[in-house]
Amino acid sequence: MLNIVIFGAPGSGKGTQSERIVEKFGLNHISTGDVLRTEIKNGTELGMIAKGYIDQGLLIPDDLMISILASVLDNFKDSKGVIFDGFPRTIAQAEELKKMLAERGQEVSLMIDLDVPEEELMIRLIKRGKESGRADDNEETIKKRLLVYQTQTAPLVDWYKKEGKYCHIEGYGRLEEITAQITEGIKRVAK
Ligand code: AMP
Repeated sequence: MLNIVIFGAPGSGKGTQSERIVEKFGLNHISTGDVLRTEIKNGTELGMIAKGYIDQGLLIPDDLMISILASVLDNFKDSKGVIFDGFPRTIAQAEELKKMLAERGQEVSLMIDLDVPEEELMIRLIKRGKESGRADDNEETIKKRLLVYQTQTAPLVDWYKKEGKYCHIEGYGRLEEITAQITEGIKRVAK
C-alpha cells in the first residue's frame, strides 16, 4: 500500500497537487482541513470546536486531531493507498501516524515537501481568500498560520529525513512540472 504524506506550508499547493496525484495513482485523499471544514459546515460539535482554532490560525490540539484521523483512516481499509494532506502537522502527530499505520501492517512510503518561498505563499493565500472566501485566508490569520507552520510543523522535515522518507520538491513553478516531479518521486517508492 502506498501511503504518501504531502507536506508544505499553507498555500504551498498540497490540495491542488493531491488531486492530481490521487487521479494518477488511484489513491484515496485525506485532507484534514477539508474534514474539519465539512464538520463546521454541518454545524457539528466537533465543527464548533475546530472553528475556534481555525479562525485564529491555530492548530487543533493533537489528541483531538489524532482521533479524527483514526476514524477517517478506517474508511479506507481496502484502499490502494492514501495521500495524507495536512496531516501530520506536529511531531506528535507524525509519531502517532507511524503507530497507526504499523498497527495495520503499513508505513508512510514517502513524505513530499512542497517548498515555496514565503512571499509567494502570502500572495497565493491572499488571492485564494478573495476567490474562495475561506475565513482563515485573511492577512492577519495567514501570518499567524505561517508562524505556526515554522514553529510547530517545519520540524517534521528533519523528522522524516531521519526516517529516510523525505523527498524535497521545488513547489514554485509550472503546475505540470511540479506534478511530474512528484510523480517521479512516488514511482521510485511504489512497488
Ligand atoms: P488546511 O486546509 O490544511 O490549511 O487546514 C486548515 C486549518 O485546519 C489549519 O490552519 C488548522 O487550524 C486545522 N488543521 C488541519 N489539519 C490539521 C492538523 N493535522 N493538525 C491540527 N490542525 C489542523
